[in-house]
Amino acid sequence: MQFKDVLVPQELKDQLLQQIHDGRISHAQLFHSQPGNHSFALAVAMGQYLCCEHPSETDSCGECPSCKQFEKLEHPDLHLYFPNCGTDKIDSKDCESSLFLKEFREYALANNLHIDLPEWISILGGANKKPAINVRDASRILHFNSMRAYAGKYKVYILWRADRLHPDCGQKLLKTLEEPEENSIFILIAEEPEYMLPTILSRTQTVKFPRLSNEAIEQALLKEHPDLSPEVAHNITLHADHNYIKARRSYPNDELAAQMLDTFQAFTQGVVAYAQRQPLDKVNFKGTQDLINDMTSLSKEDLRQHLLFWQDLSRKFLLMKAGNDQLVMLTDAEKETYEQLKSAFTLRSVSQLNEALNVALLHIVRNGNPSLILTDLYFQFASFLMPKK
Ligand SMILES: [Zn+2]
Repeated sequence: MQFKDVLVPQELKDQLLQQIHDGRISHAQLFHSQPGNHSFALAVAMGQYLCCEHPSETDSCGECPSCKQFEKLEHPDLHLYFPNCGTDKIDSKDCESSLFLKEFREYALANNLHIDLPEWISILGGANKKPAINVRDASRILHFNSMRAYAGKYKVYILWRADRLHPDCGQKLLKTLEEPEENSIFILIAEEPEYMLPTILSRTQTVKFPRLSNEAIEQALLKEHPDLSPEVAHNITLHADHNYIKARRSYPNDELAAQMLDTFQAFTQGVVAYAQRQPLDKVNFKGTQDLINDMTSLSKEDLRQHLLFWQDLSRKFLLMKAGNDQLVMLTDAEKETYEQLKSAFTLRSVSQLNEALNVALLHIVRNGNPSLILTDLYFQFASFLMPKK
């Protein structure tokens, strides 16, 4: 990753470059990031620059063997640590970042280094656990730190989401952060540094990330998806809360969005048939039960994403129903679903569904039973649609 491709304000890159050129780069940096920032990319770009064989004043060359290895996150002096936990295959007492490195690299590279914790946890399969950078990771860091840099330049340690450092791991790293080996650079990336040990914070130099501007998000979306119309890019940006990862996720061709739309459609059609007392084969209780079972088997985070999508869709339908079509951006598939369902909905019933989804989301987050929550949602929604006596 070169600096030129990192989606952060230029001042931030200039600030780091200036420190490098002045020879006063701190050996332990804390990147205080915001949700959806390209902070991991900036950390990699900095490592790549420090290890590049032919850097210019402003960027790494992108072509030397070292840069090529960094582009694949495979440079032997690039050490990556990130939250991890026990899974079906790995016992929690054995887990450490290196066991998940392949998946982590794939995830990061597939997303142009725009990564976020809920997504990573869902890939890890650790949604119902508490992933952390743990003690085994600290041991591994101490081990590498006692060795020379492979390529003779810098050793770059990136601790992505250091606000998820296990306290024991943090304790173990204190001395290393205080007196790192020469040419070791530690970049700790955190979104919630208030969760970190004060003793760690006091040993790092903070680089604060500003929120991304809407303009920057819009331009980046258009660059990444040249087929996107400026109007759609603008609409996505307005709903992204300055979070580029959220904006990328809203890109309408998303495969996951199609899947979540399918579940919404199947669920709602069942509810409508039931509420309208249609024949039993149309109501298809069995189909709904299967759907609920499938959704129940999702990780907590995936289920939450599903319901958030449903809620977003119901909000859009509400606006459409209220005649505010111009405020709503729907994909063709979403429009089709709306056309199929709109005659069954009233303004009031969609609004009630929206509220019921809010409550369901709250219960999911509080570890409620997903099967009960979804079944309850089904009967509630049906009652909203039934003609009132
Ligand atoms: Zn290079």
